[in-house]
Amino acid sequence: MRRNELLTKTAARLLESSDAQMIVEQLCAEVMTFLDCELFFNFVADDDAPRLRLNACAGVSREIAEQIEWLDFGVAVCGCVARDRERIIAESISSVEDERTTLIRGFGVEAYCCHPLMAQGKLLGTLSFGSRSRPTFRDEEVEVMQAVSNLLAMAMARLKMEQALREADRRKDEFLATLAHELRNPLAPIRSGLQVLKSETAQGPKAARVQEIMARQLDHVVRLVDDLMEVSRIRSGKIALRLEPVDLAAVIGQAVESSQPFLDANGVAISVATPEAPLYVEGDPVRLAQVVSNLLNNAGKYTEPGGRVDITLDHSDGWATLSVADTGVGIPTDLLPQVFDLFAQVDRNLGRAQGGLGIGLALVRKLVALHGGEVTAQSAGQGHGSRFTVRLPVTDAIPAGTTNASVSSNERTGQRVLVIDDNRDAAASMSMLLETMGADARVAGDGETGVAVFETFHPALVFLDLGMPGMDGFETARRLRATPAGRAATLVALTGWGGEYTRARTKAAGFDLHLTKPASVEDVRRVLACGQG
Ligand code: ADP
Repeated sequence: MRRNELLTKTAARLLESSDAQMIVEQLCAEVMTFLDCELFFNFVADDDAPRLRLNACAGVSREIAEQIEWLDFGVAVCGCVARDRERIIAESISSVEDERTTLIRGFGVEAYCCHPLMAQGKLLGTLSFGSRSRPTFRDEEVEVMQAVSNLLAMAMARLKMEQALREADRRKDEFLATLAHELRNPLAPIRSGLQVLKSETAQGPKAARVQEIMARQLDHVVRLVDDLMEVSRIRSGKIALRLEPVDLAAVIGQAVESSQPFLDANGVAISVATPEAPLYVEGDPVRLAQVVSNLLNNAGKYTEPGGRVDITLDHSDGWATLSVADTGVGIPTDLLPQVFDLFAQVDRNLGRAQGGLGIGLALVRKLVALHGGEVTAQSAGQGHGSRFTVRLPVTDAIPAGTTNASVSSNERTGQRVLVIDDNRDAAASMSMLLETMGADARVAGDGETGVAVFETFHPALVFLDLGMPGMDGFETARRLRATPAGRAATLVALTGWGGEYTRARTKAAGFDLHLTKPASVEDVRRVLACGQG
């Protein structure tokens, strides 16, 4: 067989194959015949340690192959090639003293050539050929070995990529199944709640209780959807922090406030111990509260009723240590390092009455890292509770004139508000909510009507949906801003899109504020208070 024929055949085989070991064995047998060699070794690089694993070989007994299953980087010829990523040609081995060739000399090898298998700058393994019958290789023979090694490296890279894609696909399927399951959980009580509210007997305390359940379950749906959006932001690396000096005790207070109803409903008590003096870190208050809330909600989810969660805050050596410890189901020790991985869940059947998507802790780790800190999980094992510890660098800068973002709850009446949204239910429920807050609200179902209503109604505040057929929210905002009354009004974008890109676009279109749907009651109240100036 001629050299070109051999290489063409090799390339074709490698392109077809999906079994790395079998193909290497068949292929190298042919190459050995062509090169007049009796041995070959193919090692693959281990993912976790600087060592090689024998994938395929010929010319030595099975016992010997078993003995050299693992080879550390730097050991023997192949280990040195893997370490230095450079070819080694060893010749007249029996007569040249070289520590690296001791192993193959023991196999009676006289000439040996090992190539690193590289793809996109990464070492995948090594491929070597050896002869017992002659002391040297010709240049063209070494070239053939080099060409076969390059082809094999490409095929190995392809197989690796296929495997990674299959794994990602499997995880996505699993995730979608969990997602469907998790969304169905809160929807069932909302649906039956509606049924109860429709019946005539649902009045007074019973109706209030049903509404409470529905509100709680709806919050759960909102949390799931928020998590999903966050995941796409994590993946695309698009989380931007708005940094300012933040008092961690205030952050804890805020998180406790938002998680308390959930913990109460699960019968889990909270205790908080923070130092007297404020402890400032350079951080994004919203994101830090999200970190603490996620930890608190998990403590609530994975703790039996009657259990406890203790939050403590300490300070030493320039670091703030915030810890959230619960008396819940705990985490098996060997799984502790994995709980921060995206979509990681310890046991889908364990304490999962209020499950999630396996996103919360991945988000916590990412947000803490963005703040220059770290988060760790500790647990003495299943049934022994868990402790999550967040460490953040403390800042000396104390903010000038501490800002208090709390909003006056005095709701003045009569403020004119226009809601423009093509989703009738969304518009109607928003305007009802605004009315309960004392506003005088009108609705419009599209941009054109919105502009017309605006001109006669003169609202001080406009909630505007972005995605509408016909004139979209951006265009409507521009049209409103072009009118004298429109210049003075507060325009609020209300949209399912919360990413930086959309925020930049709403700003450019003249919006004052951007709320992500579904806006919380608190957000709406806050906006209403701003609108009153
Ligand atoms: P999930 O949506 O599943 O709660 P997380 O990313 O928040 O996702 O948590 C990942 C996994 O870590 C959970 O599924 C759970 O198995 C485990 N876990 C998280 N917090 C706790 C806790 N406080 N106690 C016990 N297990 C926990």
